[in-house]
Amino acid sequence: MITVLSGGTGTPKLLQGIKTIVPEEELCIIVNTLENNYFSGVYVSADIDTVLYTMSDMINEKTWYGRKDDSFYTHDELKKLGFHETLRLGDKDRALKIQKTMLLQEYSLTDAVKIQKERLGIKSSILPMSNEESKVSIITDNGEMSFHEFLVTNKSEPNVKDVVYNNVTPTDEVIECLKTSEQIIIGPSNPITSINPIISMNGIRKILRKKYVTCISPIIGKDAVSGPASKFMEAKGFDVTPVGVAKIYEEFLDHYIINSSDNKYKSSIEEFIPKVSLDNIILKKMDDRINLARKIIFG
Ligand code: GDP
Repeated sequence: MITVLSGGTGTPKLLQGIKTIVPEEELCIIVNTLENNYFSGVYVSADIDTVLYTMSDMINEKTWYGRKDDSFYTHDELKKLGFHETLRLGDKDRALKIQKTMLLQEYSLTDAVKIQKERLGIKSSILPMSNEESKVSIITDNGEMSFHEFLVTNKSEPNVKDVVYNNVTPTDEVIECLKTSEQIIIGPSNPITSINPIISMNGIRKILRKKYVTCISPIIGKDAVSGPASKFMEAKGFDVTPVGVAKIYEEFLDHYIINSSDNKYKSSIEEFIPKVSLDNIILKKMDDRINLARKIIFG
């Protein structure tokens, strides 16, 4: 079994490569649930849905949320009715979210996602990190705000002073999947709001220390490829460089892959990480995604 820890933008790009190499049944994806919440009357688990759409080849690759070729009739109607949606949900995407919301009346999030991934024909395991509710606050110069308020309403513009969230309990399925994995891959995801919430759960670090863990840096040079990761890392006191990311995963990381242009950081990272490789980690095209997946899995 190979397990990938995922958020909703960087790692899904890599998953597209990994799924061409690893047999679907031998792949398990543990997904961040920190930002899950209700919007427009439906439960939105953005990272989980992005992984569902990525694994079923339906993802909108322009945004890395929602489905490709979606329509927005419901969104537009709601606007006409005077309801401004915080998240612009597509019609087909909304259908998946409505179904999940209904399933949650009867099932845990883990079971609801299992039902949905099976209906989408996905054979890999897709596991929410927890069935418990997370609460995350972004503390900014303009006050405290929810994740989506910061990201969507405020377009990630305010200066970030801190990011705080509660710890949740991992599911039995998550623990089992990690324990039975030969390799664990930390995809290029936001270390503060996508990966740290997973590895901070009780018992996870202890398992990771016993496993072969590979990580791909989401930071190239002195900035994130996209999104607010640099602001969040800075607020948490980490250097916004591939070195800063390595420091976060130092205690269990075996193999770290940084971009070829970041050669200057290699020797300083080698002082505390056993194996550091240089490669093209800018996952623009499918070939980039497959090539990187090959290097991660076959060494
Ligand atoms: P979120 O849930 O949407 O925040 O998604 P993630 O946490 O999975 O992804 C956000 C991170 O992905 C950001 O820190 C980006 O720097 C990183 N990222 C996005 N595209 C790429 C890419 O092509 N290569 C690498 N190395 N990182 C990427």
